[in-house]
Amino acid sequence: MVALRTEEVSGGRKSVAAQSMKGIKKLGGTVKYLPWLAGVGLYVGMAGMWHFRIAHPHFLPLVSLVVLLVASSLVAVLAGLWRLVRGPRRWYGLRLLALGTLPAALLGLHVAWVLRSEVHEFGYDLRLLIPLAESVMDLEARIRYPRRTVGRKVVMIHAGVANPEEQVEAMDRHIERMERLLGHEAPGKVHWVRGELLGYPGLCLRGIAIGSRQRGRRTAPDGLEFVDHHEVAHWTINTIERPYAVAPPAALIEGWAQSQSVYPPAELYREPSADREEDTWMPLAELVAPGRPGADRRDRAYTQGGVLVDYLLTRYSGPAFFALYQGCTSDGLDADCQRLLGCDLNQLDRAYSRHVDDMVDRHGSYSQWCLEELRCGPGVDPAGWQQFVRKYVASVKNLGDLYNPSRVTLEYTSRRHASPESVSTSHIDFALSGPCAACDYRSDKSRGLTLAHPARTWELFRGRSSADRWVNRSRAVDQDAVYRLALRKVSSDLRASLLPSLLHAYMNLVELPSVVQVAELRESMEEDGPRARVTIERLDGGSKERQTWIFAADRAYVAVRMTEFRNFEGKPATWHWEMQYDQHDGKPMLTRMSVKTTSEDGRLLWEQELKVKDRRFGPVAEDYFRLQTHDVDGSQITEATGPPARTTEESPTPWWRAKLFWGFMAWAVFALVVGLLPLRMDGGRR
Ligand SMILES: [Zn+2]
Repeated sequence: MVALRTEEVSGGRKSVAAQSMKGIKKLGGTVKYLPWLAGVGLYVGMAGMWHFRIAHPHFLPLVSLVVLLVASSLVAVLAGLWRLVRGPRRWYGLRLLALGTLPAALLGLHVAWVLRSEVHEFGYDLRLLIPLAESVMDLEARIRYPRRTVGRKVVMIHAGVANPEEQVEAMDRHIERMERLLGHEAPGKVHWVRGELLGYPGLCLRGIAIGSRQRGRRTAPDGLEFVDHHEVAHWTINTIERPYAVAPPAALIEGWAQSQSVYPPAELYREPSADREEDTWMPLAELVAPGRPGADRRDRAYTQGGVLVDYLLTRYSGPAFFALYQGCTSDGLDADCQRLLGCDLNQLDRAYSRHVDDMVDRHGSYSQWCLEELRCGPGVDPAGWQQFVRKYVASVKNLGDLYNPSRVTLEYTSRRHASPESVSTSHIDFALSGPCAACDYRSDKSRGLTLAHPARTWELFRGRSSADRWVNRSRAVDQDAVYRLALRKVSSDLRASLLPSLLHAYMNLVELPSVVQVAELRESMEEDGPRARVTIERLDGGSKERQTWIFAADRAYVAVRMTEFRNFEGKPATWHWEMQYDQHDGKPMLTRMSVKTTSEDGRLLWEQELKVKDRRFGPVAEDYFRLQTHDVDGSQITEATGPPARTTEESPTPWWRAKLFWGFMAWAVFALVVGLLPLRMDGGRR
């Protein structure tokens, strides 16, 4: 009886164990298909959302599929490992592990492929991932930025910003202005996020524009930051984007967003006008050439692209630009321009580069343009400032011309009080005479020589030791361009040394009209004569950087003193400048300039002095512009290597991205190879 009962119980146990084993096997059988189901579902979902232009997908569909993919891949890994370690049929375990994780490996490879560089071409590999990125961003935004402020064209997603309604209203007006400009109404609303998503601080995908975190840094007059204007401008023009259309060149995409960022015009034109001035302009055909751009071309998509679009908008109108932007074909921009604008790329290149020159000429000079655009602080009358700029520029502008022709020798001394024994002295000889210019610089550390002559131009540099060879740094194919560049460099160096003014030197503040303001403008009679006092200060980043200039109104508005607050070796310091002049031809000419740098508690940190040791007006003999005159042996010159000047460094892609790509690649190849090997190695099908 007892034995029978035991028999029965153990028999029941056996059958339960066998059943659950069967269940687990069945589940294992299903689990190995799940990653594939989730993976295929995910790609169908992404392609569908792209195809049907779902601009701002809810996170649930795609994120659930990703979670399912990851979870079922993990189960496949565990089940595969279990079989691999415990046996029997270890080969089957390895195959389960490999094939079960292949969909996740392929998705990882796809993402890593798109992220492998900072430059994203708008190909289908990227387009397919955008709905997924937007879904994950939607989830992240719900957690990090719980607040929503809704306007006519905007849903602002934030974690609490000052005056949200006011900011949404300003953005609505920004979008409506662009709609009127393009003659196109953007359907729907942009999801404008105030802060990073997925680690991106500024980005626009289909329905999401990631803007600034807080107001207060680089702001436009409407109180919004430039980056907000920029990213939402991308959204406004892309809302009728067709899913399979050819993307316009980056110069049109970024150029449009830059042109609508509401920068002061002088700031939009800063880099392009410097490129025109320095002969570093990139031809349009090169700027819009197909293929992955280097760092230089990528930066120019913003700078030259910005003025290109500004030109297209003013010359051809907003709707014509919109038609070109939307009508780009795989034939290239040259063909598109001919078809839609009636001009080819070269004609367009000439026209918009001339437009840049004209814009600068209209203001007299680039620096004058910046001065005219400076904002005025609360105590400064804008009309009074404009009047002062006109008067100031008229007096100062031509002072530099007095130095052509002339030869000037300067002595520069510098003493750091941290190491009083280290007084350094250097000498600079400037010569300007008609079409020729020279700058010969000697210090105890190095020597530099620039000779600009229409027939032979040199830009040489040598280390301190006489054994060091001269290195020629002026490398370009176009010798005429080398000459013009050297000529401009010498005369601008001379102006920077001998004409301390708002126009010729210390432009670091004035060149940023969007972040500085005129805090003070006062003209008064002082003990030593009529004086004008101008203070320019930085507004961004909590920096207290500012310059106060004292100009002599009775001596062509030359600067007689300047006080500057900025950092010295990372700590706040004050720089006291004093200038002395004598007369030539009835005009004031600098003879001495001294600078004392003091710490916050008044300690002297650094003293510098520039003295004019010798100055002779009149033509300089042509022989002066030869190497022999400056004791340079032509056979001792080597050509410089490395990149030519003014190419931007490639911003490094984070190291892990390349590793990530190769990691997924290795995984996918392994899974494919193991998965494709014949089943027989395991002794036949299960
Ligand atoms: Zn952009």
